[in-house]
Amino acid sequence: MLSNGSDCDCDVLVVGGGPAGSTAAALLAEKGHRVVLLEKDRHPRFHIGESLLPCNLPLLQRLGVLEEVERIGMLKYGAEFVSPYHGKAVTFDFANAWDKSRPYAYQVRRSEFDHILIRNAAAKGATVVEGCKVTDVEVGEGGSVATARRDDGTTRTIRARFLVDASGRDTLLASRFGIKRRNAKHNSAAMFGHFTGARRLPGKAEGNITVFWFDHGWFWFIPLADGTTSVGAVCWPYYFKTRKTDQTRFFLDTVALCPALAERLEGAELTGPVTGTGNFSYQSDRMAGPGYVMLGDAFAFIDPVFSTGVYLAMNSAFEGAEAVDACLREPTRQQQVLKRFERSVRRGIGTFSWYIYRVTTPALRNLFMGPRNVLRVEEALLSLLAGDVFRPSPIRARLRIFKVIYYANALLDFRRNHAAWRKRRQNVRAPVGEVV
Ligand SMILES: Cc1cc2nc3c(=O)[nH]c(=O)nc-3n(C[C@H](O)[C@H](O)[C@H](O)COP(=O)(O)OP(=O)(O)OC[C@H]3O[C@@H](n4cnc5c(N)ncnc54)[C@H](O)[C@@H]3O)c2cc1C
Repeated sequence: MLSNGSDCDCDVLVVGGGPAGSTAAALLAEKGHRVVLLEKDRHPRFHIGESLLPCNLPLLQRLGVLEEVERIGMLKYGAEFVSPYHGKAVTFDFANAWDKSRPYAYQVRRSEFDHILIRNAAAKGATVVEGCKVTDVEVGEGGSVATARRDDGTTRTIRARFLVDASGRDTLLASRFGIKRRNAKHNSAAMFGHFTGARRLPGKAEGNITVFWFDHGWFWFIPLADGTTSVGAVCWPYYFKTRKTDQTRFFLDTVALCPALAERLEGAELTGPVTGTGNFSYQSDRMAGPGYVMLGDAFAFIDPVFSTGVYLAMNSAFEGAEAVDACLREPTRQQQVLKRFERSVRRGIGTFSWYIYRVTTPALRNLFMGPRNVLRVEEALLSLLAGDVFRPSPIRARLRIFKVIYYANALLDFRRNHAAWRKRRQNVRAPVGEVV
């Protein structure tokens, strides 16, 4: 049974001040709960994950920070996919999605974006403590006890009625419970850097994200508002194992393997060292239990290809905040409320996963390179790319038709697709390790 709060320092302890934690803290404080948010770093701090989706915008508006994000963001009207296998590029404009009311998103520096969100949590009444890392936590039906270490080496203990784990890839609770699993269906790693002087698309398309496919995976090209462009390579593990030079040289040599991207970076300059990240495709066995929930990357992360991470993290924070509020107000409904929360978040992740797992297959590339709006399937696909996967809508039926078209396409070119799928299965099995 949840504690009534008299023996606790706060109602909700949020671990982590990324998009998920700051969003949940703001919403729960707004609902009148005593919220403490502990963040191990100090904002503004670097984080990768700079491309947002149109469906992020209503969430930012609801938090009251949309105008601030507009000021730091680069307008992103769509996504361009470039295929060397088809010798062409295709742009998907969000304005053509099923729901025409969300025609753009933003590219953001995460240091600025996350800073806006954590300041908002404090402004809404949450007690925000930065430079304070949660090192241990005991979770029980009656509440949680967390031990945290501040930058100055001192420690503190906090008792909370409810624990929100938004610790990102640190996966505080999932690691502690031993329930974090490597994704058996996906496996990749990334290296990335920032450039000045990269050649962007003309006019309104200047802020579009570009995805370049190449033989070992794909690249992102994300133009930021200050003129910098974020470029990253997401590759299969075997490719990272071929590295014989330093990370920066290896990255530049990898760019050279993709002539369409190399052309856009001709004369551009790297503004700092290239960094890398591995082991990023994982999921935990459960997302919630008596007295706790896991949000965003603290539960799962799959792949950055459709720029879904921040949106899924913030959406899980909106749904999680509703669930935690309901649990605190009506503890007897806790089990049912948490089950519904977990089902909804898993459905969103599952919807994107199907496309992520297939994005490097010939059949999916063919469909992306030759989009046709038969039965409004292209509009539905654009809505998916905009993040519109949680509302019940006719989009779901159209996405089922898209899958039928995909399988038909794969059958028509069975040998090539079967070979690609077998290669994918081999690649997925190999461990990545850290690539830095
Ligand atoms: C290579 C790559 C590229 C990506 N590109 C994109 C993209 O373009 N668009 C997109 O939407 N997503 C992208 N993502 C995903 C995105 O970065 C994440 O999904 C998103 O940041 C998740 O938000 P979060 O709040 O769950 O976690 P985080 O943003 O990671 O926040 C977690 C916070 O918790 C803090 N923390 C951790 N442990 C503790 C502790 N013990 N005590 C206190 N604080 C703690 C951390 O310091 C951090 O601030 C990308 C991911 C990768 C790996």
